[in-house]
Amino acid sequence: MAYKIQDTCVSCGSCASECPVGAISQGDTQFQIDESVCIECGNCANVCPVGAPVQE
Ligand code: SF4
Ligand code: SF4
Repeated sequence: MAYKIQDTCVSCGSCASECPVGAISQGDTQFQIDESVCIECGNCANVCPVGAPVQE
């Protein structure tokens, strides 16, 4: 299952540069993951300071 960023995201941007497939972009209110591109590597969850990316 792809990862999804929860509402706890504080838009620090750390995850986007760690995603090997460029699945993360800045949305209107927080960063978001394109679930059709995510390869479930877990990098975003590992670098996020607030644990916002979770695997569904
Ligand atoms: Fe990108 Fe990996 Fe996070 Fe998926 S799990 S959004 S591939 S960093
Ligand atoms: Fe949001 Fe976490 Fe990504 Fe920072 S690292 S933009 S808090 S999901």
